[in-house]
Amino acid sequence: MLLRHTPKEITERKALTVNPAKTCQPIGAMYASLGIHGCLPHSHGSQGCYAYHRSALTRHYKEPVMAASSSFTEGASVFGGQANLLQAIDNIFTVYEPDIIAIHTTCLSETIGDDITQILGKARAEGRVPEGKYAFHANTPSYVGSHVTGFANMTKAMVDCFATSNGHKSKRINLIPGWVEPSDMKEIKRIAGELGVDTIVFPDTENVLNGPQTGKFSMYPKGGVTIDELKDTGNSRGTIAMGRLASGPAALALDASCKVPCQILDLPIGLQATDRFVDALRKMAGVTVPDSLNLERGKMLDIITDMQAYFYHKKVALVGDPDQLEALTEFLVAINMMPIHVLTGTKDKAFEKRIKELTADLPHKVNVKSGGDMMLFHQWVKNDPVDLLIGNTYVKYIARDEDIPFIRHGFPILDRIGHSYFPTVGYQGGIRLLEKILEALMDRQDRDSSEIEFELVM
Ligand code: SF4
Repeated sequence: MLLRHTPKEITERKALTVNPAKTCQPIGAMYASLGIHGCLPHSHGSQGCYAYHRSALTRHYKEPVMAASSSFTEGASVFGGQANLLQAIDNIFTVYEPDIIAIHTTCLSETIGDDITQILGKARAEGRVPEGKYAFHANTPSYVGSHVTGFANMTKAMVDCFATSNGHKSKRINLIPGWVEPSDMKEIKRIAGELGVDTIVFPDTENVLNGPQTGKFSMYPKGGVTIDELKDTGNSRGTIAMGRLASGPAALALDASCKVPCQILDLPIGLQATDRFVDALRKMAGVTVPDSLNLERGKMLDIITDMQAYFYHKKVALVGDPDQLEALTEFLVAINMMPIHVLTGTKDKAFEKRIKELTADLPHKVNVKSGGDMMLFHQWVKNDPVDLLIGNTYVKYIARDEDIPFIRHGFPILDRIGHSYFPTVGYQGGIRLLEKILEALMDRQDRDSSEIEFELVM
């Protein structure tokens, strides 16, 4: 196998990344853009970048991801991409008829120094953006940050470009769900619906990237936040942002520009984080928690109680994005498991501090790193083996080489389905995660047990 020769001995590496544990900013920007209804994402750079970004999203969501490109060649690379972008805006509105174009930059256009604000100003002045249609942009230089940064930048750009305040606050609450699956966005909206809270969710990829098969191709599926809703976010009573990195900047921008107070929470993965989300929404909206949600919570608690003997002190290694890993680590500690290797490819100092706090009471040494790579993650696992691996599809190589049970979670998942249809957030999502963890552990126990230990009932 590919990783069989990963050495166990860890040597200090500062200038070399082997198998990155992240992807690049425009992928996140493209994913966020798809959460606006009638939006065509546009990649300002070469066709190579855009093809990679589209294929990464298409492979994960198993849906055709539509986007456009400025298609840089040598000329644009030397003289700048203004002419390409102006031509692209003309072509896109004429041929593909979106309501809105969400432009993100790439390494190349950022290195050239293209000023998208100026180019868009020129496009508008020349009448290239038709009446009632929109074009806006986010800068997403991929030599800093990761796909999470790109998602955060594009989500913040939605606020910067559209949110306005009419001076009157409505009863609505803005929910910024962060980089989660379309199924998770649906679940977050369902929970808000159970509480009876009127919300604006942005970006919202439900029914865009997990839509039904209708037999007809639709360039702009029916899901997504509308432009009118984005404009109205400035009049909401408050904002709940889920995920410090992916959603925090947009929530803070909305607070600064339109005086919409915000709370920045963890992703609602696991019992405590979901409790905090429900509680924050309850208080902000001035509502009470219905019995239906208490019932869901009770069921999740019952499963944890029933199965705690099988979770107890099982060692876990996790790799993924900071927002997901912080919530997952808290959840695993709460069910008495031991997340002992926690690594993200995204550089974020607050991440290491938070994971150390969450795991401070574990009776085991914990490795944590932001800005790490898959090779280091593999080396940690070789030196201190675990009972379970959690991460994206690339972890399957380590799982196979080290013969360790593996649960797919995060981005990208290229070799399974389900993630875009079944949530892992909220109480219902928590139950699904518990089932997945238990199934992985018990399948291994059954496989490895002797005939005498092979139990029918657990
Ligand atoms: S890292 Fe830069 S050059 Fe590479 S695909 Fe992403 S945007 Fe393009």
